[in-house]
Amino acid sequence: MRKEHCCDTMRARIAPVCDQHPDPWDCNKALMVYWPREDAYGIMNRIEGERMTSRIRFCRWCGDPKRDLSDARLDALEELGIDWATDPVPEDFQTDTWWRRRGL
Ligand SMILES: [Zn+2]
Ligand SMILES: [Zn+2]
Repeated sequence: MRKEHCCDTMRARIAPVCDQHPDPWDCNKALMVYWPREDAYGIMNRIEGERMTSRIRFCRWCGDPKRDLSDARLDALEELGIDWATDPVPEDFQTDTWWRRRGL
């Protein structure tokens, strides 16, 4: 299932239309990352060749609040008796399926 992002600017900054840079990190039009698994957004920081991201709480363009389901995901795994550090993580939990199924 595709995520509807909050605004056109966010959409363009996550997936810029660019045929020169298959890797968004190489494209200076790409500024944001979306992680479906945690329904979280981050800003791309390119510092001296390092690729780092920091999660954001609001869209910087339209102000839409953003969440981060990392903790909820680990809690849900724990409820299923799965130790995410050592057990194989079910396929649902590797994508956005787990939180969509739970109506989160
Ligand atoms: Zn580009
Ligand atoms: Zn937005």
